[in-house]
Formats: sequence, structure tokens, C-alpha cells
Amino acid sequence: MTTISTALQAVKCRILGALEQAGRTPDAVRLLAVSKTFPAEAVRAAWQAGQTCFGESYVQEALAKMSDLQDLPLEWHFIGPIQSNKTRAIAANFSWVHGIDRAKIADRLAAARPASLPPLQVCIEINISGEASKGGVEPQDALVLARHIQTLPRLQLRGLMSIPAKQAEARPQFARLRALLQQLNASGLALDTLSMGMSDDLEAAILEGATLVRVGSALFGARTAKEG
Ligand SMILES: *Cc1c(COP(=O)(O)O)cnc(C)c1O
Repeated sequence: MTTISTALQAVKCRILGALEQAGRTPDAVRLLAVSKTFPAEAVRAAWQAGQTCFGESYVQEALAKMSDLQDLPLEWHFIGPIQSNKTRAIAANFSWVHGIDRAKIADRLAAARPASLPPLQVCIEINISGEASKGGVEPQDALVLARHIQTLPRLQLRGLMSIPAKQAEARPQFARLRALLQQLNASGLALDTLSMGMSDDLEAAILEGATLVRVGSALFGARTAKEG
């Protein structure tokens, strides 16, 4: 499928352009291809075009795709809201989890992470806009949750993730997430990941220090069904 390969090149160009504008090195950002709602064949086409990391938001859908794509050495990231009853499946099948927002979920993921796999790489989701409807922990509660996650040997805390409020300008919200990461590192943590930026705002995120952008529609096209 040339369309996915063309879209992938275009997104990579946008990433490189923003990195150059920010004065950052060309390898400073990882691209996570968000394949939720798109079929396994779309993931396979992206793999053939050179993409290895994929993000999914719905557990059942992701497991079906993983089973179809077993022959490929893909790295799967869970980026959706985490329900307690899904922690076992997430811990056993994903390499990364971006949206940890409470200690109980971290505990369950740690308990369920199979000993045969490396520690689960995790980010804490921050409610950076302060909107009540948004997921994630309040910035002032991040340090306590981070310290708790650090006591769990089967999890490796890598950084922070956020989805900015659509009503507000994204860039100041990205700047706040970066400032929070710096503050946590000044408190003795060693976090290296800022998971922020999507199809519409990846440049602003990269200018504010994103190390991983989560891009769906710019790669695979508009999502029609199943979004909630
Ligand atoms: C769907 C989703 C994305 C991708 O969004 P696009 O606007 O399609 O790039 C990124 N992050 C999260 C958490 C998502 O749920």
C-alpha cells in the first residue's frame, strides 16, 4: 500500500522539520504509529514501509491484531484508558503503557507482568489542562505516584504522557508537561520520555521537547467508527 508508505514519509518529514527548527538531533523523537480502529493489513503495510512501533487503545482489538501479525517483530504500546480487568492482558502483551493514572493500576500491571518478559516500560498520564473531564493525575500528585511506581520491580518508569485539551492552544500545555518532567528529575527521578503530540500538533510538541509522538490519522487516514 503506497498510501501508508507515502504518509509515513510525510510524517517523518514533519518530525525532522520540527526537530531542525528546535535545534534538536534528528533521532531525538520516536514515532509511535497509532493503529487503533485500523486493520492488521494497515499495520503490516506500515511495517513494510519501515515502521516498528504501534499504539493501540482497545485491548480486544489489539490482541486480535497481534495474533494476525505474530510473524512480525513489532513493538506494541498501550495508549488507551486502563480498566482494572484488562491489566493482565495488557501486562502480558505490550512493551509499553502510556496512560498510568493511579497506584492500583500500576500494582496490578506489575503483579501481572510475566517474569519471562523485560519490565513493562510505563509513563504516567498527566491532566495538563486541568479540565475535570480529562484523564490523568493532577501535576501536583505526579511525584507521589512516580515514587510508588519506582518501588515496583516489574515496571520501569520512563516519563510522562498527556493529551492536551482541544479548546486551548496545545503548545503551552506541552511546555507545562516538559516543566513537570524537569521538576520530577530535579527531585531525583531519571525520566527520559515525554509522550506528547499527535497528528495535528506534533510540531508544537517537538518544539517543547517531546521524545515520542503518537500519530494516527496522519498515517492511516481519518477514523470513522468506534471512537469514544
Ligand atoms: C488516537 C490517539 C492518538 C492519535 O491521534 P491522531 O490525532 O489520530 O494522531 C494519540 N494518542 C492517543 C492517546 C490516542 O488515543
